[in-house]
Amino acid sequence: MASAHLLGSSAKSPNQKEAQKPKQQMPIFAKRLRYDLQRKAMSILWDHSGDTERQHRVCSCHRNLSSDGLPIYRAVDGSNARFANVQTCGSGWVCPVCNPKITEHRREDIYKATVEWNKQGGKCLLMTLTTEHENADNIVEVLEEVSKAQDLFTNDKFVKKTFGTATATVMQREAKGRPVKEQIHGTHQRLGYIRSLEVTHGVNGWHPHFHIVMFMHDDSLLTDGSTLQRLKEIWVKCLIKAGADKFKISDMLKYGLDLRGGDYVADYIMKFGREPIAVNGWTIAHEVTKANSKNQTRNINGDWHYTPFQLLGFATNGEEAAAALFKEFALAFTGKRMNYWTNGLKDYFGINEVDDEEISQEAAEPEVEEELVIYLNPEEWKQVLQSNTRAELLEIAAAFGKDGVIDFLERLPDRPKTHSGHYDVAKPKGIWQ
Ligand SMILES: [Zn+2]
Repeated sequence: MASAHLLGSSAKSPNQKEAQKPKQQMPIFAKRLRYDLQRKAMSILWDHSGDTERQHRVCSCHRNLSSDGLPIYRAVDGSNARFANVQTCGSGWVCPVCNPKITEHRREDIYKATVEWNKQGGKCLLMTLTTEHENADNIVEVLEEVSKAQDLFTNDKFVKKTFGTATATVMQREAKGRPVKEQIHGTHQRLGYIRSLEVTHGVNGWHPHFHIVMFMHDDSLLTDGSTLQRLKEIWVKCLIKAGADKFKISDMLKYGLDLRGGDYVADYIMKFGREPIAVNGWTIAHEVTKANSKNQTRNINGDWHYTPFQLLGFATNGEEAAAALFKEFALAFTGKRMNYWTNGLKDYFGINEVDDEEISQEAAEPEVEEELVIYLNPEEWKQVLQSNTRAELLEIAAAFGKDGVIDFLERLPDRPKTHSGHYDVAKPKGIWQ
């Protein structure tokens, strides 16, 4: 375990000072878990054809360099360290290192918009659209079905009449001198919405679903039973049209569309992207404080479900079936949009468009002052990759600074070489964009 190495009393350890011992909840410890998971994702998705252009981009993340030279920085209080000049993949679905940065950025955007909307007297409601599924169902087909149903639902006449033309879209078009031609005034008018695609895997197989945060002018839809019932029926009709036609209609009506407001929405946004992931008892950053012993989440039907990163965690613990499921998921979801904001909504709340890759490249705003620890040369970086010790090196850099890193590098050639250590400099990241 990470702490055993760092806190243990290796005779050669250059630093025995109490003050510099890392604390359990420091960000550096979550990093090891993320690097472990990422290493597993790399090996699961590695294309053995030898064609580097065919690799999933996660395989080059925090491994390939943007140019020669690899500086390491540390927080002066020893709480964190990072590599600079490494390429990032920006794969929100697949990369455990890039994902937290991306989802946290998206979460902050959603949070900012909902807080502002509430301040202006609006109401946020959360609609969840889901489908029944069976264990044997292919993830690609299930995803296609639910996506097609979602398109049909959005374009349904009654749905359009209910929600109207998004107010923020109308405002944006008017500002650009291109007003909406056939503006619909909804019976439950909304400013716009943010749609997120999520997927879990459970006893009945893959479970892709949409969460839609709707910026309503009021929350009267919650108590408008007849409209709600009609929306549920339309969702079922859309599912059947999209091919999800082998299930009991009564079940689909019961579970397919869910609408909630109030604290439930706030809770959803607070937890957005902050899923618990565990490997050998280690849980990721935010969850460390929550001491979450159960890593499963319950879905609407009450079944136990696992997120893709939880599957990756099981794969890291040696579960082959989980590794196969993660691969199936990565093949189906890479390139799919995670979040969609209706036109004009970001403008309305003054939120900038930034793509996932840009977010993954942003150096996190350091919470404490940073200092340059050392520059690694190409041979040293190769040895780090060969011995799979990226996280360990960062822990050493955070806790012990330059002396610790030099000591670590001196002993590195003696460590077992478990990986190839190959990396590229300023190369394209592969075809899975
Ligand atoms: Zn990445």
